Parts: sequence; C-alpha cells; structure tokens
Amino acid sequence: MSGIKDKVVVITGASSGIGEAIAERLSKDGAKLMLGARREDRLKSLADKLGGDAAYHVTDVTRRDDVQALAKAAIDRFGHIDVLINNAGVMPLSFLSEGKVDEWDKMIDVNIKGVLYGVDAVLDHMLERESGQVINIASTAGHRVVKSGVVYCGTKHAVRAISEGLRMETAGKIRSTIISPGAVETELGNDISNDQIKDRVKTMQKDTGLKPEDIAEAAAYSISQPDSVSVNEVLIRPTVQEG
Ligand code: NDP
Repeated sequence: MSGIKDKVVVITGASSGIGEAIAERLSKDGAKLMLGARREDRLKSLADKLGGDAAYHVTDVTRRDDVQALAKAAIDRFGHIDVLINNAGVMPLSFLSEGKVDEWDKMIDVNIKGVLYGVDAVLDHMLERESGQVINIASTAGHRVVKSGVVYCGTKHAVRAISEGLRMETAGKIRSTIISPGAVETELGNDISNDQIKDRVKTMQKDTGLKPEDIAEAAAYSISQPDSVSVNEVLIRPTVQEG
C-alpha cells in the first residue's frame, strides 16, 4: 500500500504543535486518525474539526496501559493500524548542577519510555500483518549534546537508537522512520523552569523556528512512499540554525 489515503495513523502528542499539524496534514490526504494526548478539550476540538475519520483517546504515554488502550481504540474503530507516530515529548531544560532530577525523570518517562510503550503497543499487530510504519519524532538534539540540554539530548539519542534497532529487527516488515527537527515554534519548552534558558529557547523558536506544518510535510513524505521504500531519517532545520 502506498500513499496516505485510508491509512490508519495513531499520533501521540496530537493536542498541540507538531502532532496537531501532522494530524491536519494527514487528514487532508484522507488518513484515518486516532489522536492521543492528555488534554481532552484540545483533542476533542481537533477531532471535531477534522471530521468523521478522526477520533481520539485520552492518553498519558507514561502509562503503559493508556498506550495499549490507544492502540486498541484505533483497531476497534478502524480495524487495524498502519502507522504509529510517537510524537509526544517534553523539554524542561536545565543544567545538571541544578539537580532537577524530577524533570530528568519526566523527560525519560515521556520521551523514552513513552516511545517504547508505543512500539510495544503496535509491534505484534504490525508483525502479524507483516506491514506497518513507526515514526519516532527525535530532534537535532539526538545528533549532538548541548549544555543545559544534556538529559533532553540523552533522551533523543535514545529515540534514534530505538528507531534504528526497530528497523534492524523488523526489516522487511516494518518501516522505521526518525524525524529529527531543529527549532520549531510550538509549546515545547513552556515548562522550562530556568528563566534564562526558557527566554533563549522561546525567542529562538519565535524568531527563527520552523512551523509545525514544515515537520508535518516530512511525516507525509515518509508515509506516502511505497511499502518497498523506507525513509529512515529526516533531519530538518531552519536554514539559519547552525547546530
Ligand atoms: P508541544 O509542547 O506543542 O507538543 C507536545 C505534545 O506532547 C503535546 O501534545 C502534549 O500533549 C504531549 N505530551 C506531553 N506529555 C505527554 C504525556 N505524558 N502523555 C501524552 N502526551 C504528552 O511540542 P512539539 O509539538 O514541539 O513537540 C512534539 C515533539 O517534537 C516532541 O517529541 C519534541 O521533543 C519534538 N521536537 C520539537 C522541537 C521544537 O523545537 N518544537 C524540536 C525537535 C523535536 P498533552 O499535554 O495534552 O498531553
């Protein structure tokens, strides 16, 4: 199967930013969508806007049962899953010396364990069907390490490692895709508790960041390829972004 029309796509973190833009982009091309995130009001208004082929299931990706239930909701509603997009992520940046271990835990739980729970929720299903695609949203932070972003970078390196391992273990059956954006203007970083870092990040996103729609285009490109073509990584930065 190639193209986007009629593909069943599960998207985590669909309540804002990149996840929301991907949902809108794929909906235009006729995908059937199961949207997951915690903020039900946002999910509901997006699903209402997109119409009958979009549904949602309130999901906290740090809860394994929630992620299993999200996948089940997609299968119950649409019959199967063609694509999982592990997009949910958080970025409360800080220096290691600030000792914000609770924030490190949160990033590990959402950005790494959430991705693994997603993979687990669809893997048997996709292997049985000998067909499927898992798209993990990593980051340029998965390609380098920056001061004040050590734990976040660690989580995004892990996402890339998991995606590559998934690709190798499921070759011939499942397409594994990493999308690594640079700065994008979204709500990401609103939870940074160090004011200086937050100002820097939010200013960069606002002044030079990509639009979430730019990343949605990369997702649409990777999904629309024929089954025999696996786009394994897209690295996409604002032209002015150096690192
Ligand atoms: P947003 O903050 O706009 O979106 C993050 C999404 O993740 C929200 O929908 C949020 O929904 C969801 N989320 C957070 N925690 C959980 C949770 N525990 N369970 C379920 N969903 C959760 O940021 P972006 O759109 O920018 O982020 C999307 C992805 O893109 C992330 O993985 C991020 O790391 C990555 N990225 C972003 C870049 C950027 O500059 N913006 C650059 C590189 C990568 P809710 O709160 O409703 O649960």
